[in-house]
Amino acid sequence: MAIEGIVRKVTEVRPRIVEAAFACLNCGSITMVPQEDSQLRQPFECSKCSTKKMIFLPDSSISVDSQRVKIQEYPENLRGGEQPQTIDVILEGDLAGSVNPGDRVIINGIVRAKPRGLGQRKMTHMDLYIEGNSVEVLQQEYEEFEITEKDRELIMQLAASDDIYEKIVKSIAPSIYGHEDVKLAIALQLFGGVPKKLPDGTEIRGDIHILLVGDPGVAKSQLLKYVHRIAPRSVYTTGKGTTTAGLTATAVRDEVDGRWTLEAGALVLADKGIALVDEIDKMRKEDTSALHEALEQQTISVAKAGINAILKARCALLGAANPKYGRFEKFTPVPEQIEMSPTLLSRFDLIFVLKDEPDEEKDKRLVEHILYSHQLGEMTEKAKNVAAEYDEEFIRQRSERIVPEIDPDLLRKYIAYARKTVYPVLTDEAKEKIKEFYLSLRSRVKENSPVPITARQLESIVRLAEASARVRLSDRVEPEDVDRVIEIMMRSLREIAVD
Ligand code: ADP
Ligand code: MG
Repeated sequence: MAIEGIVRKVTEVRPRIVEAAFACLNCGSITMVPQEDSQLRQPFECSKCSTKKMIFLPDSSISVDSQRVKIQEYPENLRGGEQPQTIDVILEGDLAGSVNPGDRVIINGIVRAKPRGLGQRKMTHMDLYIEGNSVEVLQQEYEEFEITEKDRELIMQLAASDDIYEKIVKSIAPSIYGHEDVKLAIALQLFGGVPKKLPDGTEIRGDIHILLVGDPGVAKSQLLKYVHRIAPRSVYTTGKGTTTAGLTATAVRDEVDGRWTLEAGALVLADKGIALVDEIDKMRKEDTSALHEALEQQTISVAKAGINAILKARCALLGAANPKYGRFEKFTPVPEQIEMSPTLLSRFDLIFVLKDEPDEEKDKRLVEHILYSHQLGEMTEKAKNVAAEYDEEFIRQRSERIVPEIDPDLLRKYIAYARKTVYPVLTDEAKEKIKEFYLSLRSRVKENSPVPITARQLESIVRLAEASARVRLSDRVEPEDVDRVIEIMMRSLREIAVD
């Protein structure tokens, strides 16, 4: 059968004996014994003289290259916290060593079952695995979406409407009150900038990285969860991670047979999509250093225990973190309260500081909003009877607040369509505007700010402006895109980098 999935783990490539040579200690003749299992099968006696004294000759045995890889379902096909299914595939001969973790593949092979347990102690439970016959590495982006002619029409209509940015903002986590600027930033992140390959071979990423740092209970996790639902391709995880691979990738010894195994972490699995990392401040030490490379170069290099690999991690990162002391302290500068190194912080295109300060007016509206969504959730029959007593005005108000303006399915297609077909370029006017803004930024930098204003921000502005043009399905980045970007950029920089 053929299965399609993403490569999650690969073991190192090592020879496996298929025919073992045994020499007779009495007459010297050699007996070849075919091997199938992982346990070495010995001959019963010498085929010539029938003595039982034989020794194994590794050099005269015949072996093939062998590797075990683990294939996992596509993360985008999972709905609502399902655990992905995995299956082991044995690749031998030329096939061994042909895939890397994170690759999307179709594997053709034979499904086999073998009893669990090693040697004599076999059990009645069986494990399934696939004996691979061929491997195709796929290069697809967002094709897995079927966009019908009808969808296309709807998308065109949306893109042409005057208030499309507002509409999208209202479609991202409508049950969460406020945070409009964060939602707009997330929208731009979903659409993404244009990756570029320069004539000299340099690659510049188009992916936009965003960090949310905030007091507990300001709906950071909820936002991430929502993005997980609407992004065409995304992986959700927490900084501590539940798998050994964590955020980037790790080489570990396999618990079953002790072979070195390279396992892909969240950023590799999210290749060409978006990685959502909650509690990113609590990530492991090893991830911190690998993340530097992953965010800017979009690759992850692993060199350990004979495994040398460069994995692709071309994804956008949306991270959420708490401040150092759990909450923001009023009299300590904000940058000092973010527990991440300046080098790492400077790789984020936007950093949002979300403070939870009491404000009577705002709190009132927040309460209203939250209670609206609680008043009518998913309902039992009895609750429906009560709900029937609500007047029309209530129902209208409620849906205005917490029902997404654009249907999530359509939004997902819209994003996929824009990413696949629109590659905006800067107009001269937009370029001039960016130049002006950047130069003014440089002159306003806070002294000893942890996030220096460098050419990185310049690239960020371009990426964000491109994303903004993509929302309109426009081939040109216009000055209005730059204005939009400057506004959110300043909101992000004011807290940490400029006066
Ligand atoms: P965090 O991850 O920032 O600590 P959560 O995302 O877990 O916070 O949010 C805590 C709860 O408060 C959630 O149930 C969330 O829906 C609610 N909440 C917080 N802020 C808002 C808001 N602005 N609008 C609606 N609900 C909110
Ligand atoms: Mg949280």
